[in-house]
Amino acid sequence: MSIPLIDLALQHRNLRSEINSAIQEVLDRADFILGQDVAKLEDAFAAYCGTKFAVGVDSGLSALELSLRALGVGPGDEVLVPAHTFTATAAAVSFAGAKPVFVDVDPVTWNIDVENIEAAITPRTKAILPVHLYGLPADMNMIQGIAAKYNLVVVEDACQAHGAVYKGHRVGGLGSAAGFSFYPTKNLGGCGDGGMVTTNDAKVAETIRALRNCGQREKNVHELAPFNHRLDNLQAAILRVKLKYLDEWIESRHKLALHYNKLLAGLDIITPVEPPGYGHVFHLYVIRSKRRDALQAHLKERGIGTAIHYPNPVHLQPYYDKNGTARGQFPFAEKICNEILSLPMFPELTEEQVEIVVSEIRAHACGLSRR
Ligand SMILES: *Cc1c(COP(=O)(O)O)cnc(C)c1O
Repeated sequence: MSIPLIDLALQHRNLRSEINSAIQEVLDRADFILGQDVAKLEDAFAAYCGTKFAVGVDSGLSALELSLRALGVGPGDEVLVPAHTFTATAAAVSFAGAKPVFVDVDPVTWNIDVENIEAAITPRTKAILPVHLYGLPADMNMIQGIAAKYNLVVVEDACQAHGAVYKGHRVGGLGSAAGFSFYPTKNLGGCGDGGMVTTNDAKVAETIRALRNCGQREKNVHELAPFNHRLDNLQAAILRVKLKYLDEWIESRHKLALHYNKLLAGLDIITPVEPPGYGHVFHLYVIRSKRRDALQAHLKERGIGTAIHYPNPVHLQPYYDKNGTARGQFPFAEKICNEILSLPMFPELTEEQVEIVVSEIRAHACGLSRR
């Protein structure tokens, strides 16, 4: 018996003929660069998120970096980011030429702690970059309130949160722009890298269209920084197939997460929360355990795949700790890094497999109490 953390090959086996014909059509048309699937995926994804515009790019990191650039964030500016996230959130700020300023995360939701945001604002602060971590939206009304008070822009890091809901609205249109990733393991993932910006701001969309394509607003006039951050048309064709299944997959993840929550109740484990008004999409199902390392080793021995997202907070990563960030500065982010564990979670996982994972977690807890 073995239960993987995620099983992408299984997903692709189920979609084999649809994906193969989508790929074949691109090969037949040979419209590889900014071909018709990119435009069709942009329309479909904007409609899905309820935004006016969507612009395909080559990764989630590029989506965030170009969003910041299009909103005028650059050298001399500071951008507030949570200390507990994937490193790309902060990297997007650095690559836009600005400085990431870290904020600790909330003890209940593990997203940026809105109580700590105002204390981090300086005259140089230009933007807030909240992350909808693991698929749970950040507290966007509070964040927008603070942004309005200090005249800041808000860019959502929605790379883990396609389809997540905040107070009746899907993420992607809750700030000035949002960045999504189509990295293969994400809830909507390609067969390679890819990303998307969503926005309701025509100017931002138009600027990103130019920035992704050699800085051209007009052919052969390289007006803006001449980057190449285009979304590959083959990836767009595959993503168009998968987008049709996204809601079904989210529903399955959600059901499995509730099953985990129910079965884990009563054990010495903290399970993820979904506050009222929030629609969590469980990109990752993350628990907290005081004996995380031993538990992970036990599960590995039993053939159960787990991972740690992420073992070190961003402010302590070698690339960032030169900026004067230090251990002890963001106590909660530092604490949960030692406790978090991602359990198997993918739409094709079965309730029986969830039950096996939980029974092994229970066996581990009982074994400890007998010793
Ligand atoms: C995956 C991810 C990114 C970056 O996406 P890429 O497509 O890998 O560049 C950014 N932020 C978060 C929170 C992510 O999970």
